Amino acid sequence: MSSGRQHERINKGFLFVVITLSFLLSLFIHYGTEGAILAGCFMFGYGAGTYYLSPDLDVRSRPYKRWGPFRFIWIPYQTMFTHRSFWTHGILLGDLIRFLYLLLWLFPLWGMLGFPLPTSYKREILVFFSGTSLASVVHILTDHSSSFLKKRKKRRK
Ligand SMILES: [Zn+2]
Repeated sequence: MSSGRQHERINKGFLFVVITLSFLLSLFIHYGTEGAILAGCFMFGYGAGTYYLSPDLDVRSRPYKRWGPFRFIWIPYQTMFTHRSFWTHGILLGDLIRFLYLLLWLFPLWGMLGFPLPTSYKREILVFFSGTSLASVVHILTDHSSSFLKKRKKRRK
């Protein structure tokens, strides 16, 4: 199992892929200011997926601790799902569950503060979600490859 620090280091290593994808997004999907905003949403999503919305929110990990006084919102999530289960470490499914789980907390707060629902930002939210999903894919692949290498090492002994 990779440590939180290792995960963040590897995710940072993939930054060139993220920047390239963001650049292509801004060029081909929507050239101009809108494209640049979407590229920003993608990069922001990748950063959020690495540091705050990581699959390892299912344990008391570095991303969990980063939530500071709001970390309590992830405690029910940790009791619902076991570490590295399909529900937290499943590609896309894990992200979707985390995203919806977070929205369950945010919507009442959003309503209490009187903000209108951000329905006109569907595309930006989708691109942000894609960024967090890419960060999770890198995380999950790192988890699997480190487990595979450890098993192989044990077999050789
Ligand atoms: Zn993990």
